[in-house]
Amino acid sequence: MLNLFEEIKNANNIAISGHVRPDGDCVGSTLAIWNYAKDKFPEKQCDVYLTQPMPTMFSFLSGYSEIKYEYKAGEYDLLIVCDCNNVSRLDVHEAISDHAKRIIRIDHHEDSPVQQHFDETYANPKGSSTCELVYELIGDEDVTKEIAECIYTGIVHDTGVFQYDCCHKSTMIVAGNLMEKGIDTNYIIDETYYRKTFVQTRIMGRALAKAKLHEKGEFISTVITLKEMHEENASSKHMDGIVNQLRITKGTRIAIFLYETAPGEYKCSLRNNDDTDLNKVANAFGGGGHKKAAGFQSDLSSEEIIKRVIEEVRKQDV
Ligand code: 5GP
Ligand code: MN
Repeated sequence: MLNLFEEIKNANNIAISGHVRPDGDCVGSTLAIWNYAKDKFPEKQCDVYLTQPMPTMFSFLSGYSEIKYEYKAGEYDLLIVCDCNNVSRLDVHEAISDHAKRIIRIDHHEDSPVQQHFDETYANPKGSSTCELVYELIGDEDVTKEIAECIYTGIVHDTGVFQYDCCHKSTMIVAGNLMEKGIDTNYIIDETYYRKTFVQTRIMGRALAKAKLHEKGEFISTVITLKEMHEENASSKHMDGIVNQLRITKGTRIAIFLYETAPGEYKCSLRNNDDTDLNKVANAFGGGGHKKAAGFQSDLSSEEIIKRVIEEVRKQDV
C-alpha cells in the first residue's frame, strides 16, 4: 500500500493536483492531503494546483485560499495526482508532471485507456470517492477536524449524499468516524451539495423545460447553449445537478446533458438508472468517468452527440 507519510517525508517540495472543473471529491482530496502535509511537515513547500472556475461553496475548507491556479516553471520532488487517471485532465497544470521527479496517483477511476506513467498508483475503482482512499492512507488518528471536513465533503459529493451504488458499508463507517471529529455534517450536505444560487435555479429550470425523450423514453436529454448561459448569467460552474435531475425522471434509463463550452463545443454528462457502463460510452468519445457517471468533451453537433451516445449504449445492449 502506498505510504503517504513516507512519500511526503522523502520530498522537499510537493505539488498536489486534481482534474479540471474541480468537484467536491477533487477539492476535498487535494486539500485533505495538503492539510495532512502541513500538519506533519510544516516546513515543507506544499502547493495545491486546481483550475478555475473554483466553486465558492468549498471556501470553508481549510487551505482553500491557498489554492494556486497558475503554475509557473519550477520542479517538484513529488506530484500527487488526485481523482484523475490521466495527466491531460490536469488541464493547464499538466506541465507540472513534466517537471516532477516522482508522480503518484490516488484515484477511484479505472485506469485510463490512454497509457499513462505514474511512479505509483493507489486506485480502487470500487471506492466511493478519492476522499475515502485518502482517509485510508492518512489513517484515522491523523485525521484532524479540518481534514475530516475535506474528506466528508468528497464522500458526500461522489456518493450523491450516500445514495449511489458506490457507497458501501465501508463508506458509511468512514463517514461515521468523520462525524466523531466534530464536523458539521448538516452544513456540508446542505451548503455544498443541495444549496443552489438563483442563477443555478434559473438555468436548471431552462434545462429541464427543454428536456426531450428519445427511443420511447429510454433516453432523456437536454442542451444548454452559450446564448442561454449568457442570458442567465451562467457559466460552467452553474451546471452541477442538472444531469442528476434528468436521471430521476420516471421510466428513463439514461440521462444526457450537454452544455456549450465554446461555440460548437460541448461538455457532455451521462448518468444511468441501469447497468450500462457509461465509462465505456464516454471512452468512445475520448472521455471517461465511472460506470454510472461519466462525461466527455466533443465538437460534434448536439444532435450528433446524442445520436452517437444512443448508438454506443445500443452496442452494449446486444
Ligand atoms: P460530470 O458529468 O459530473 O462532469 O462527471 C462525471 C464523472 O465523469 C466524473 O468522475 C468525471 O471526472 C468524469 N468525467 C467527466 N468529463 C470527463 C472527461 O471529459 N474526460 C474524462 N476522462 N472523464 C470525465
Ligand atoms: Mn471522484
